[in-house]
This record gives sequence, structure tokens and C-alpha cells, in this order.
Amino acid sequence: MAANGAKGSDSRPVFFFDIDNCLYSKACNIHDEMQKLINKFFCKHLDLNTEDAHMLHQKYYKEYGLAIEGLTRHHKIDPLEFNYEVDDALPLDKILKPDPKLRKLLESLDTSKVKPWLLTNAYVNHGKRVVQLLGIEDLFEGITYCDYGKVPLVCKPNQEMYDKAEKEAGAPSTEQCYFVDDSHLNCTHAQARGWTTVHLVEPGIPIPRVPASRYLVSNLEELRIHFPHLFKSQESNNA
Ligand SMILES: [Mg+2]
Repeated sequence: MAANGAKGSDSRPVFFFDIDNCLYSKACNIHDEMQKLINKFFCKHLDLNTEDAHMLHQKYYKEYGLAIEGLTRHHKIDPLEFNYEVDDALPLDKILKPDPKLRKLLESLDTSKVKPWLLTNAYVNHGKRVVQLLGIEDLFEGITYCDYGKVPLVCKPNQEMYDKAEKEAGAPSTEQCYFVDDSHLNCTHAQARGWTTVHLVEPGIPIPRVPASRYLVSNLEELRIHFPHLFKSQESNNA
């Protein structure tokens, strides 16, 4: 991945990609593995039984978009300790493999017209580990992540996080931002901000009654259909 940092003359719009359950399928069950580790963390550090741990975890997730946010706000938990026992403890190398189809899709983005950028609520270790395992880390120009070393945490769907992302990626304006995420909440807030937002809802997952954003796709391949101007033309693809 290239170093973060915008060049003054760079007027390309930015395409922000969420990482977890977006660049790989929910069917990988990383989400489930993570839920188990988070619940274990709640039990251990808050001295809760499994049921209460699960309920509190869900409550924080709904309220803040991130379990760790509730933990730091209400329980003085060190986010880096959480990261160590949850995200870094995930057996990702056993689950994720290079994804040639995804790589091809990202390679066909015309980077003279758009800047691909990662935007995650995970800490940087986890974000980078996932894209490395998927074999696509060189196709993004940077990453905006939730800095677990700084409390209070700044994460999606907080506008502060979207603002931070725009600045770090060097977006020419708020209107020049594209975004894809599997989270309804994250998409709703990005759409409200004025980003061109795509909610990824994988097949088998219920379509939300209230759309989160202007666009809805069931697969990242559909980005080609909605935003053909951001992709290389077919001839140069086949060349
Ligand atoms: Mg996600």
C-alpha cells in the first residue's frame, strides 16, 4: 500500500471501501468468530455471564456501531487490549485466501479517475492483515482506520470519522466521495453526508425495508454497472 498522504494537485474523487464483510463474504464466518471473541472479552473483563455479555455487546453495537466504543465509554477498557484479544486473535490466515476475482475488479478501476481507499472501524493491524491475505493490499492508496490508541474513539458512523477519511485520502470535496459498506448504519450516515453511497447486501440477507442509501448491490461486481465511468474501458481490460 502506498503511503498515506494527498498530493496538492490530485483532484481525483475517492472510492472508500469498507473491509470486513465487504471485501470478503459474510459466509467466511469471520463475523461469528469475532462475536465469540468479543463475548468472551465481555465475560472476562466485565465479569458477566454469557447471556448478559451477549446482550450488552449487541446494545453497544447498535448504539455506537462498534462494541469497543461502548467498552471505552462505560468501562474504561483499553481499546488496544481489546484489539489484542479480539481482532488480532482471529485465525484469519486459516480463513482468508487471495481472491483473484476481487483483485481483477479492483485492478480494473481506472486509478487516473478515482483513488481507491480503505475505510474501516478496525484497528490498522487487522485492516492491513485482511487485505494482505486477500492479495489486494497494493491496490489501495491508503487506509483510514479507527485509532484504538486514542480515546474517545472516532469510528463510523460518526461524521468525524468520515471527515477524517476525507482529509486523509485528500478528497477534493465531500461530493467527490464514493463509499461501499455492508453496514446499514454506516451507509445511512455516509449518504446523509452527501457521499455517493452503496450498501452491500449479500444474497440471502434480507433487503432492508428502508434503503440505507441511494445504491444497493448484492456483489461488488455491480459497482461496474453503477459507476462505469470509474472503470477502465472494456478494450483496455482485454488488452
Ligand atoms: Mg463491514
